[in-house]
Amino acid sequence: STEPRHLTGDKAGLREFLDKFDVFLFDCDGVLWSGDHCFPGTVETLELLRKNGKQVVFVTNNSTKSRADYRKKLEALGIPSNVEEIFSSSYSSSIYISRILQLPENKRKVFVIGETGIEQELRSENVPFIGGTDPAYRREITPEDYKLVAAGDESIIDPEVGVVLVGLDFHINYLKHALAYHYVKRGAIFLATNIDSTLPSSGALFPGAGSMSAPLIMMLGQEPTALGKPSQAMMDAIEGKFQFDRSRACMVGDRANTDIRFGLEGKLGGTLGVLTGVSSKDNFVSGPVRPHAYLDKLSDLLESDY
Ligand code: PLP
Ligand code: CA
Repeated sequence: STEPRHLTGDKAGLREFLDKFDVFLFDCDGVLWSGDHCFPGTVETLELLRKNGKQVVFVTNNSTKSRADYRKKLEALGIPSNVEEIFSSSYSSSIYISRILQLPENKRKVFVIGETGIEQELRSENVPFIGGTDPAYRREITPEDYKLVAAGDESIIDPEVGVVLVGLDFHINYLKHALAYHYVKRGAIFLATNIDSTLPSSGALFPGAGSMSAPLIMMLGQEPTALGKPSQAMMDAIEGKFQFDRSRACMVGDRANTDIRFGLEGKLGGTLGVLTGVSSKDNFVSGPVRPHAYLDKLSDLLESDY
């Protein structure tokens, strides 16, 4: 691939770039903010785009929150939004399960490794689930559990589970991994909200959702179907809401192997990297997945005086 264009400080280049697109898909963490810290100029940059008639869409791999949670977070940071403009991996997973998978009536239950964001989105799609934040699963495994699991006892192995969905779980434990393994072994479909190996927080990296499914991949020798970026299931979910022209859409992200790949594989007209998150300039300029252009930070778009 060719070398991406560095647009910071290039007013004419910025204007020309902005002219090419009607829709901007934004990764959130690492682009608009970092954790609870909103980057300076984020609010103004989004206002600039909206003022110029650009459609703005928020696309996050964070499965721990629902779309409603994200709308509140955006609002608290001074960014007005509509739930319809927000796509989280918890949401794309839920609609994949409810609308794409054709599950038999007696196999509709989902065993969840994850937090309330997944639970809320499954509930709003009327998908039954177990696991998740239920305290019954947030405990140590016991000698009795091993016997019941081995015997396939219905008091612990629910025969209606047809899907295992793995997202980031701050209470991940041995019992959940053991149950997830046995459900997949018994034929459940193995899904992951996203496969980000790490989660940046407070300037350091922590285990991401991909590190929750990694032990299962090791045990099963099987990869999950992942539904966040770069999965095109996420793009299909967005397209299901907005019938947009992909050639006139641009994906903005900080992570080459999720965000930029998402835009490139979705055949969007543009991809824009920013250096305020996970990927470095080297990743963007000479890595295997390169954006069309990159900026030091998102608010450099303000230099366009668009
Ligand atoms: N997963 C979790 C649990 C997160 O908290 C975050 C960021 O806050 C992410 C993934 C990455 O989110 P994004 O795709 O918005 O960078
Ligand atoms: Ca990000």
